[in-house]
Amino acid sequence: MRKFDVIVIGGGHAGTEAAAAAAKMGCSTALITLNASRIGFMSCNPAMGGLAKGQLIKEIDALGGIMGRLTDRTAIQYRRLNSSKGPAVRSSRAQCDKPLYAQTMQSYLSTHPNLTILETEVADILSDGKKIEGVLCRDGSEIHATSVIVTAGTFMRAVMHTGFEQTEGGRAGDQAAVGLSQSISKLGFQLGRLKTGTPPRLHKDSINYSEVEPQPGDEKPVPFSFYELPNPFPYLPQVNCYITYTNEQTHEIIEENFDRSPMFTGVIQGVGPRYCPSIEDKVKRFRDKNRHQIFLEPEGLNVDEIYVNGVSTSLPKDVQERFIRSIPGLSKAEFIRFGYAVEYDAIDPRMLKATLESKDVDGLFFAGQVNGTSGYEEAGAQGLIAGINAARKSKQLPEFTLGREDAYIGVMIDDLILKGVDEPYRMFTSRAEYRLLLREDNADARLGGKGFALGLLSENDHRFLQTKLEAIEMGKKSLEEFFVYPTAETQKWFSNRGLPEPKDRLTGTSLLKRPEISWSELSELGFSSNVVPSSVHEELEIQLKYEGYIKRDIELLEGVKKSDGLRIPSSMQFSDVPGLSTEIRQRLDHARPETIGQASRLPGVTPAAVANLLIYLKMSEKSHERTVRAP
Ligand SMILES: Cc1cc2nc3c(=O)[nH]c(=O)nc-3n(C[C@H](O)[C@H](O)[C@H](O)COP(=O)(O)OP(=O)(O)OC[C@H]3O[C@@H](n4cnc5c(N)ncnc54)[C@H](O)[C@@H]3O)c2cc1C
Repeated sequence: MRKFDVIVIGGGHAGTEAAAAAAKMGCSTALITLNASRIGFMSCNPAMGGLAKGQLIKEIDALGGIMGRLTDRTAIQYRRLNSSKGPAVRSSRAQCDKPLYAQTMQSYLSTHPNLTILETEVADILSDGKKIEGVLCRDGSEIHATSVIVTAGTFMRAVMHTGFEQTEGGRAGDQAAVGLSQSISKLGFQLGRLKTGTPPRLHKDSINYSEVEPQPGDEKPVPFSFYELPNPFPYLPQVNCYITYTNEQTHEIIEENFDRSPMFTGVIQGVGPRYCPSIEDKVKRFRDKNRHQIFLEPEGLNVDEIYVNGVSTSLPKDVQERFIRSIPGLSKAEFIRFGYAVEYDAIDPRMLKATLESKDVDGLFFAGQVNGTSGYEEAGAQGLIAGINAARKSKQLPEFTLGREDAYIGVMIDDLILKGVDEPYRMFTSRAEYRLLLREDNADARLGGKGFALGLLSENDHRFLQTKLEAIEMGKKSLEEFFVYPTAETQKWFSNRGLPEPKDRLTGTSLLKRPEISWSELSELGFSSNVVPSSVHEELEIQLKYEGYIKRDIELLEGVKKSDGLRIPSSMQFSDVPGLSTEIRQRLDHARPETIGQASRLPGVTPAAVANLLIYLKMSEKSHERTVRAP
């Protein structure tokens, strides 16, 4: 019988990140997946990042994960979203060459030390009910491990729908996983039914490009990875996407066929994402809108498929053909694949700890879509945390967790394990309380040290980070030592721009803090910008311009941290805590929070209840100290 330190079930975005992390941390790791040629496959859109998702990739990269580096190797269009808005909401997005992304992932993992890839189906999870033992595969083989990570994505009891046509399968071209749900359910996990959907794919030569609007990428693309810049950069030729719109005729065709939609006729029971509705949902919910925007996105450089972003649908094939052909630029559209919806099982993530390990079965971890999330980035980020903790468990090292103040990853996991999900969860910047602290540009400064300590970042990567941090400090010093004096020439410079003329000398720091002054204006005033490497310009400028807000957030955070991190012993009986209502006691019993911070964020738990918990904890601590000290 084979034995590994860590088994990862699934080769999607959570599984690949988990397996790479565990193997990098020195654990013998098995990645078991249904189809090895689909490892790292993008099930839906050909893009990585986007609002708040870009932050997740940067954080994965900062910690030493692989998603950012692979994105930079395969990107065919980069776009910085919200680039004219505040730094907290700026996010990167890259269109990738879809087949190349999966191939690059496969060749990376296939030569990874400590990692074995096995192509089979996991049919059962082996445990004594309290502690993980390993897995049983469909071919009858038993594989044992200290930790098992389930990253089964959209595959558990998965059914695909196009109109009233139903097919078993996790996504087009892939079988469903049947036994795993049952096995997880037998271990006491509650399973819910969720749903997601995908739009049709059209042949690129069937689009009339004169009727659609080109959408080029950024002139100066910014890489995802902090540590590795492909040479040349961008590594691949960059391409345009295109924009078009639905119209009233499109909406009429869709509306006429609501009675043939599996969504509106009760055929699909799973809950879909409200924030990412299908086109039939959009037409129904936003009747006042006479058009919806559509992005036509190439799936690769040598690929015929165009992804029609914005019209995810499970309507019958003939309806899809009619409504798509009513859209400008698509009147002669040829379908390579029709849109469909997929329903699948997901666990209730409230049964997990912040490490993504089960609260009940020691050594069993869950990550990705199976925890009720949606998206490659959300999956990758959870995979990384589960991989790190599974590896640390097998090495008997303490757990590794991230808080809401550390990273978007911390926000997401905290939301999942405390609130659970009632629809597929995706990351938004609005979910983070300290989003000015959790920016894309400083993810390496926030997390790089942790990644190095965990053994995920190499010496080289770490040195690179140190050099960057030193450059920022040197930049601050040079700005502090640069002065603009109130001469006739400088006063003219200021008055020409409608700015108040300086009365005293001004430092570079005080100038760069002003909203109307950036690096180019500083250069005009005589500051030699090349003293500060351009790679740190943005971060340094944000630090100075938003200093007041950042300081306020840090102070706020310090106050919260004092009580937030206090641990609640797992043996604690909430029924012993005086002053808690039955409802609050039940909520606490159900969620079993690990810290006071987690308890305070549970829906329905009042500040007064938190105060009672705090008093109780302090009193228990004192009585414990008295007992320990007693002769
Ligand atoms: C049709 C469709 C539409 C989607 N639409 C969107 C969207 O619009 N926006 C968005 O952000 N995300 C969308 N997604 C979701 C996105 O694809 C997932 O969020 C992401 O792929 C999740 O990654 P994962 O690693 O959790 O799972 P997946 O990428 O699904 O990977 C699961 C892996 O587990 C393996 N596996 C499953 N069961 C077993 C078993 N028993 N034994 C061995 N291996 C097993 C599979 O072979 C696969 O490799 C969509 C997905 C689908 C299928």
